[in-house]
Amino acid sequence: MDFFDKAETWDRATIEATQAVRLRATVEQAMKSPFYAERLAQAGATPDAVRDLADLTRIPFTTKDDLRNQYPYGLACVPRSEFVRMHCSSGTTGTPVAICHTQLDLNSWADLMARSLYMAGVRKEDVFQNMSGYGLFTGGLGIHFGAERLGCMTVPAGAGNSRRQLKLMRDFQTTVVHILPSYALHLGATLQKEGEDPRKLPLRIGCVGAEPYTEETRHRIEAMFDIKVYNSYGLSEMNGPGVAFECQAQHGLHVWEDAYVPEIINPETGAPVPDGEIGELVLTTLCRHGMPVLRYRTRDLTRFIPGDCPCGRKHRRIDRILGRSDDMIILKGVNIYPMQVERVLMSYPEVGQNYLITLEREGLKDSMKVQVEIREEHFVEDVRVLRALQENIARRLRDEILVTPKVELVQHNTLPQTEGKAQRVHDRRGQ
Ligand code: AMP
Ligand code: ZN
Repeated sequence: MDFFDKAETWDRATIEATQAVRLRATVEQAMKSPFYAERLAQAGATPDAVRDLADLTRIPFTTKDDLRNQYPYGLACVPRSEFVRMHCSSGTTGTPVAICHTQLDLNSWADLMARSLYMAGVRKEDVFQNMSGYGLFTGGLGIHFGAERLGCMTVPAGAGNSRRQLKLMRDFQTTVVHILPSYALHLGATLQKEGEDPRKLPLRIGCVGAEPYTEETRHRIEAMFDIKVYNSYGLSEMNGPGVAFECQAQHGLHVWEDAYVPEIINPETGAPVPDGEIGELVLTTLCRHGMPVLRYRTRDLTRFIPGDCPCGRKHRRIDRILGRSDDMIILKGVNIYPMQVERVLMSYPEVGQNYLITLEREGLKDSMKVQVEIREEHFVEDVRVLRALQENIARRLRDEILVTPKVELVQHNTLPQTEGKAQRVHDRRGQ
């Protein structure tokens, strides 16, 4: 087995011993910010009290609102002159969450990112095209510095503009892309429509993440481009990408436990859930100096995958993100995740790359509409064939989510396509 970093070869005892030492140092460092100084002192979670991993639960959770309230510098633990860059989370409304990084923070982030890419099989000889938006979003520069650190020839293509992406891919013989799942499907379909066969490109690996997607979507992207797709997870509060990444076993994402402590809790009670059960992921930074964040409630739902990974790494694996706790739709008293809908839709070969869930309220009655783009070659079918398809999808959705949605088949490229993360749910019930 081939590793980028010694920490990838650590056994559990070494990982946990390192975590304990780094946790203590992180608590000490965090106390330099007025926010954590007060919070930790109040909770009695001072460096003297947090001696071991078992003491982690003495530390109170940090929420997104805490970070918003501390915007922009309230969590700073170093003089401002030590910071060299900042990034924001991609929330669209209200006060943003900003994280400022020192040069050391950026170096360790780039190392984690390079390690993640290497684990997925990316090598120095690869040409790496990053199709993320650059700027405040961490998927741009975060991934970029990792690919450069690995020694790849890196193309900072940015988001959107399929024609230019294709030209760059062709001209520079791109072998690896970093791309959002929604954009990967869109790009592939656009190329096919223009008579191009995306499988003929020299691409071999897709690093795909930043938003939830299903195993069905992975298979689609893999088949469309004839590549291997690896899931990439991260969030700006924890630097960005490079928190957890899939290895070549493609069965769960290894969380880099030398740099983060992951926990999975019951979002209602805050108590840890039994191994293998779904809950909310909570993360603590262990290698961040400028703005450490302790026990951050990500709102992302996942589970630890029990057992050892065939790749040999002992860093624990999390399952692909099921969705965010705040994405959960409650309709007629039933809890529904958009990914359940996606799983059903993407299993139909007739279904194209885009869909939209709209929740509506008429009087006291709530309903769900699912608009689905149908591939061009199927849209011209007989009305009866289309109606049968529509009914079939509605039935399968009802079996999966326990409410019957209204299914609407629409022509391809008619639903809104965003450049950044896809907006899959419109909730019109409050309007
Ligand atoms: P941001 O901090 O704006 O980059 O957004 C981070 C959020 O994007 C995470 O908290 C997740 O909700 C989502 N996200 C990132 N990567 C993935 C992934 N691989 N699968 C599912 N959701 C993801
Ligand atoms: Zn593995």
